[in-house]
Amino acid sequence: MQSSSSEHTHSWYADTRKTDQTWPVLQEHLEADICIVGAGFTGVNCAIEMADRGYKVVLLEARRVGWGASGRNGGELIRGIGHDLDQFSNTLGHDGVLALKKMGTEALELVKDRIATHRIDCDLVLGYADLGTHTKHIKELEQELDSLQAIDYPHPLRLLEPSELKEQVVNSDFYTGALVDEGSGHLHPLNLLLGEVQLAEKLGVKIFEQSAVSELVKDERPLVKTDKGSVRSDRVILACNGYLDPTLESWLGGKILPAGSYVIATEPLTDEVCERLMPGRKAVADMRLTLDYYRISQDNRLIFGGLCTYTGKDPKNIATALAPNIAKVFPQLGQVAIDYQWGGMLGIGANRLPQIGHLPDCPAIYFAQAYAGHGVNATHLAAKVLAEHLSGETSERYQLFASINHMTFPGGRLLRAPLLATGMLWHRLKEFF
Ligand SMILES: Cc1cc2nc3c(=O)[nH]c(=O)nc-3n(C[C@H](O)[C@H](O)[C@H](O)COP(=O)(O)OP(=O)(O)OC[C@H]3O[C@@H](n4cnc5c(N)ncnc54)[C@H](O)[C@@H]3O)c2cc1C
Repeated sequence: MQSSSSEHTHSWYADTRKTDQTWPVLQEHLEADICIVGAGFTGVNCAIEMADRGYKVVLLEARRVGWGASGRNGGELIRGIGHDLDQFSNTLGHDGVLALKKMGTEALELVKDRIATHRIDCDLVLGYADLGTHTKHIKELEQELDSLQAIDYPHPLRLLEPSELKEQVVNSDFYTGALVDEGSGHLHPLNLLLGEVQLAEKLGVKIFEQSAVSELVKDERPLVKTDKGSVRSDRVILACNGYLDPTLESWLGGKILPAGSYVIATEPLTDEVCERLMPGRKAVADMRLTLDYYRISQDNRLIFGGLCTYTGKDPKNIATALAPNIAKVFPQLGQVAIDYQWGGMLGIGANRLPQIGHLPDCPAIYFAQAYAGHGVNATHLAAKVLAEHLSGETSERYQLFASINHMTFPGGRLLRAPLLATGMLWHRLKEFF
């Protein structure tokens, strides 16, 4: 499943990417206003936001632009950032929590605006549904609807009974109810990112691939070193998320847990089968901790994701590991060929709020990470919040994020994964009650 470090992971996205443009290796010393480490959605969007504000930006990627989670995810563009935001009311107050909730809508619009303004060809389809799998989820769906209506969510929302959801969203007996959101949707994430990196380049960003940062020299103007070059800049932004090597920055590495998630793409199905499985072609995700998420691609494949690993080890055969999940939802599907299988690392923080801030021992080094499964939109918002702060426009929203204290996962590098796996097992068991 994994590719060599110089190539994209073999996936349906990589095989259907709109460009195979490459960028050079950094082989010199450069001076810049901003140096960004990591070219996924976070890094590329920070580059766009800063270059658009007139800054001289260098973007360094260890492998290829979009090699990480941004080029491999489920492609679901879902409203909202974080999870259970009311947990922050003691720290942020009512207004702070409200601001975070509204940013969850803004994040969605940012992505859609970027696609529309720059005519990025990335198969955007609107329509998404949260699916309950337990009777307790029906109440949670109702609460989510209330909470979205309370912030004047600007897109149609509707609750569906099981019989309605079978007709309108997923033809499956597995679900107890659904909340349909016509403002969220799905897209081809690698083509979105490649469209965005071309925009960054047009704005003057200097982009380098195969240029892993191996050392950060923490200074008033930090120095970033790669094997063959270096960059001295006023500010650095670490945008490595689930691929951050904790030996590069141990404090930041302790705040994030890399978790593996996995996806398959079937052979193309007939229009009739697609219509029978998922009328309306919305993206969906269920409400369990280890959830299934899936959708039909533009070329009629079922793109089905799920599973969750904390050990850093991928399942031996992803298609075999995901097969029972697919059969449980769509027993009628029968035997279809699985043309692609792949996985990637997302970054999870203990409270599941995106982490945006600067290093305590070097105020010139910033970071944005830990979006859990909502990174397609939250990365775009994080980039905007950082740019507003770094350019001196306003720091209000940056301070909101930076004021949250994120727990360091206990156990250090080696014990962290087994400890979390045990914790997650406990949460998963609770889902049955
Ligand atoms: C299988 C899967 C399914 C997902 N599904 C969804 C979904 O449907 N919807 C959704 O919203 N979110 C989803 N996510 C989460 C989402 O993809 C991520 O939150 C988001 O892409 C994070 O973007 P990023 O730019 O922060 O990190 P990444 O895209 O992971 O990019 C980090 C980059 O940093 C680079 N890097 C690391 N170290 C260095 C270094 N030392 N020097 C230079 N570069 C370095 C890496 O090579 C990598 O390219 C999913 C994630 C996975 C893995």
